[in-house]
Amino acid sequence: MKIAITGIPGVGKTTIAKALAKKLGYQYIDLNKLIIEKYKPKYDWFYDSYIIEDDMLNIEIPDNSVIDSHLSHLLDVDLVVYLIADPKIIEQRLKERGYSFSKIFENIWAQTAGIIESELVGKKYIKIDVTNKDVDTIVNQIIDYISTLDKK
Ligand code: ADP
Ligand code: MG
Repeated sequence: MKIAITGIPGVGKTTIAKALAKKLGYQYIDLNKLIIEKYKPKYDWFYDSYIIEDDMLNIEIPDNSVIDSHLSHLLDVDLVVYLIADPKIIEQRLKERGYSFSKIFENIWAQTAGIIESELVGKKYIKIDVTNKDVDTIVNQIIDYISTLDKK
């Protein structure tokens, strides 16, 4: 199966995607990297991010993979894992990453407004609040959820 790990920056997508892929024996896919390599999108220096058009999501993804990106849920996947966290934790992590105040605010606002979640309508997804959970606990929660899917 193909599993998308999504959520705002700093929520733990890369950490969880790598740990989950390792535990399942799946391939870890860095979708942002593949998009940048294939489509060479323009960089918007004002918004401090790449300009990703919808047609840049045309990327071949192998089966049995865990896809890391805030855009991964837009692909044709079998399961979306949507991570959320307490804004205070996000703020702290993004400050450490050197994000500007406006970029931190914009991302926390996006989570609060439910921008990503609104794009999950009609998809199979699990929403996990990762606040105060260690990586193993989160990965096990995802694997437990997958095992309930198998039985359905
Ligand atoms: P993203 O890929 O969503 O931007 P990262 O995986 O890079 O997020 O995680 C952001 C930071 O938070 C990293 O320093 C990472 O080590 C840390 N982190 C991620 N998940 C957890 C967790 N469950 N518990 C503690 N620290 C975490
Ligand atoms: Mg990441």
